Formats: sequence, C-alpha cells, structure tokens
Amino acid sequence: MQVINDNGCAWINDLNSRSNIKVLKKNTDCDWLIIGAGYTGLSAARKLGKLHPHKKIILVDSQLAGEGASSRNSGYLVETTLNDGFTSNKELENYKKKSDIYNLGIDTVKNFVKEHQVDCDWNECGKYFASSNINDESILKKFSYTLTSLGFEHKLLYKDELVKKLGTNFYNVALYTKGGILLNPGKLVRSMINALPNNVELYENTTLLKWSSIQDYISCTFDNAKIRSKKIIFATNGFLKSLGIRVNYNFPITLTASMTRSLTEEEFYNIGRPKEWGVLPVKPMGATIRMTKDRKILIRNTAEVHDPFKMSKQTLEERSKIQKIGIKKRFPNLPDNIIQSTWSGVVSRTRNSSQIFDKIKDNIFVAGCYNGSGIGVGTLFGEQIAIKASNQNTEEIQIIESRNKPTWLPPQPFLNMGIKSRLIFERFRAKSEI
Ligand SMILES: Cc1cc2nc3c(=O)[nH]c(=O)nc-3n(C[C@H](O)[C@H](O)[C@H](O)COP(=O)(O)OP(=O)(O)OC[C@H]3O[C@@H](n4cnc5c(N)ncnc54)[C@H](O)[C@@H]3O)c2cc1C
Repeated sequence: MQVINDNGCAWINDLNSRSNIKVLKKNTDCDWLIIGAGYTGLSAARKLGKLHPHKKIILVDSQLAGEGASSRNSGYLVETTLNDGFTSNKELENYKKKSDIYNLGIDTVKNFVKEHQVDCDWNECGKYFASSNINDESILKKFSYTLTSLGFEHKLLYKDELVKKLGTNFYNVALYTKGGILLNPGKLVRSMINALPNNVELYENTTLLKWSSIQDYISCTFDNAKIRSKKIIFATNGFLKSLGIRVNYNFPITLTASMTRSLTEEEFYNIGRPKEWGVLPVKPMGATIRMTKDRKILIRNTAEVHDPFKMSKQTLEERSKIQKIGIKKRFPNLPDNIIQSTWSGVVSRTRNSSQIFDKIKDNIFVAGCYNGSGIGVGTLFGEQIAIKASNQNTEEIQIIESRNKPTWLPPQPFLNMGIKSRLIFERFRAKSEI
C-alpha cells in the first residue's frame, strides 16, 4: 500500500520544490538497497556511498524523499527525554545508556551540519519540560536528581520566570535543560537529500510491495518493477511492521501538528517578545509547543492508533481544532484563526522505548523505532547500520548495542486494544496540558 501524506506540512511547503524526481520503471540489480528515505535511510545511503564508492547503491521511497515524519516533526534535537510514554527508564544506568545514544545522535547531526555547511536554523537554546500543574514539580525534582547524577546542566523554573521566557502565563513549573537544540527539520532532511553521494540512485514515489530473501540476494517487488539486491537495509520506521519487519516489537502511532502564521509585531510585543523556545510536556500526552525563530507557534498535542498510510482531510481538521484550543489556552489574546497549516506524520514505538538496530540475516538489516526522538538517533542509526552491514565495527555500534533491546508485544487485536486504552489513560492524566 502506498503512503499518502497530506500536503499541509509547513516545513515542507516553505522549501523550494525539487526537480528531477525519478520513479523506478524497469527491473534492475544492485549491491545495496535501502528502503525509506528519511533521516535513517538518507544517512545509511550517505555512509554506504562513502564506504563503497564503486558499488551500486539504490535508495527508494514510497513518497518524495524526506517528506515523511523526517520533515513533519517538531524539530527538537534532544539530549534527554522525560517522557517515555508507555514505560520509563527509571534506573539511572538505563537512562544513561539512553542519553548516551541521544548525545551520539546530536554529535552525528552536528558533524553533518558542519561538514555540509547546512542552514537548518540550528539553535542551541535548550528546551523546557513544563507543566501548568504545580504538583508536577515532584516529577521534575526527581528528574533533576537524575540529570544532576549524570552531569546534565539544567534548572528548575517557576511561573514568573516562565512568563518572561515563554510569553505565556500558562505554565507554573518547568525544568530547563541546556543541551537541547531546536532546528528546522524540513531544511535538515532536504540538505541530506542534496548531500547524497553520486553513486547513490534515488527512486521516489516507488513503493516496496513485497520482498523475499532468496539464497544470497533479496528480491523486491515495487509498483512498476523489481530490484534484486545483494544486501538490504530497511529504514521505514513507522512502516516496518507493514513490511513484516520485527512485527512483535514495534507499532506505528500517528501524530498531528499545527503551525500558526508569524505573529505580527504587535502580537509579539504583547507577549513580551520572547526568544525562540521549545516546551515538551511533563506528562506524555501533553502538548509539545514551540515558538519558532520567525515567530510562528507550532503545537503537537495528539497521538493515536490510526491507519499509518493515510489520514482523511476531515480527521486532520478535527485534530487542528484540538490544536487551536491548545494555543488559545496558552495565548488567549491571540486571534482565533491563526493556524495556517496542519499535518500528520507516523512514528514508530516499542514497548520499552528502546530502538531497533538489527541484523536480521547476513544480508538484511534494519534500523528504526525512535519513539518520537528520531532526528538525532535516526541520523546516528542510519550511519551506523550502514557500517555494521559493511561488517565493520565502531565504538558507536558498541554503545548502541549495549542498550536494552525492545521487548515483545502481544499480537492483534490485543495490541491495539492495549495501546488504545493506554493512550486514553495517558490523555486523561495529561488533560490540563493538552
Ligand atoms: C508530528 C511529529 C513530531 C515529531 N517531533 C519530533 C521531534 O521534535 N524530535 C525528534 O527527534 N523526533 C520527532 N518526531 C519523530 C521523527 O520525525 C522520526 O523519529 C524520524 O523522522 C524517523 O526517521 P526515519 O527516517 O527513520 O523515518 P521516516 O522519516 O518515517 O522515513 C521512513 C520513510 O519510509 C518510507 N516508506 C514506508 N513504507 C515504504 C515502502 N513500502 N516502500 C518504500 N518506502 C516506504 C516512507 O515514505 C518514509 O519516507 C516527530 C514525528 C512527528 C510525526
């Protein structure tokens, strides 16, 4: 089935449209095939291109490259996360492993940005975990203890200071972490497409329908043609399950986000002219909300079990209304209709919030499931899965492989029943924060 995305994503629509889009039309063979051209697939292709300059490498995506979740996210490149949603890494040792991976992810993106002189509105302004509910102070204090033990620079802040920093008096308590980075995800992923080495052939609007492993090659059937490859890397994240990959270890969740127009000079003045900021919720189902560098407000406050291949216009409009309320709660004096775009995107989750980084067979590899934090980790995992698939080892691979492995999930229909009831429960817990 083809991935059909809405065309509402502001990050994508702000970019120049690309030309020279190639669709796979005839059968071919290659040495390496990568399925999925988001951060993971693009990074894997970039690395393979460098490691094997004389090999034939093909990268394929069902839609336009980079225009899945990799362009549709909120643009937080995180060094720490508070919410793991379904389960949390309570023990310090596990938390350290997780944050080590996040930090390697930041380094990988930073190196890419530096090497290719990428303009993606990179801002090392830190981020806030904030709540309107003062009782959430206890959660933040515990988190502060974890961060102190691991040496992360951070600070607890209360209402008066938050009003000045954020321009809203909605929040009563927050924990600021210095290491978070805000960026424009559309610009970042576009630069990864532009940086693909010459020996990588990119085919877009080309959907993998089925695949099989036959002796020492993999046979892949697309809409119009077939590819036979010696090795394959699956980088389809929220669509891994639909391709039969690690089906009992991951599941897709659909998120929606909205972005306003730029605030006028007067509107911006009235909220105190805050600098660019990003807030993450204390409770998993609360809103992620961000003031961009061009004074737009981005909000993401829905997460649901939904058909990952398509969200109808009507459903998207309903989600947009929830986002309008979220903005109104925080900025009651702004006009009602300032949302300019609303879009959805698909992420992948595992039960214990660990990622997938695996060799399935000698010639089949997979990386994905970043549980909503894939900008850095996806870029890191893409590069490192390419290295692993080339039978090489790195310190990064050792760190990645020392993480907890994803835990087993029950089959359908029990899985969806479980996830849906968990989401309802989390939504109820976070109701003041949506
Ligand atoms: C609204 C939203 C907000 C988010 N906020 C953040 C954030 O602030 N920070 C953060 O780090 N992460 C965030 N994320 C998550 C982040 O976007 C993802 O973790 C990241 O994009 C994963 O990258 P990827 O390359 O693995 O997958 P994707 O970007 O999903 O790419 C996978 C690609 O595979 C393609 N594909 C699927 N099936 C097939 C097939 N059969 N044949 C061919 N191609 C196929 C898809 O078209 C897609 O382009 C957010 C996501 C969303 C949706």
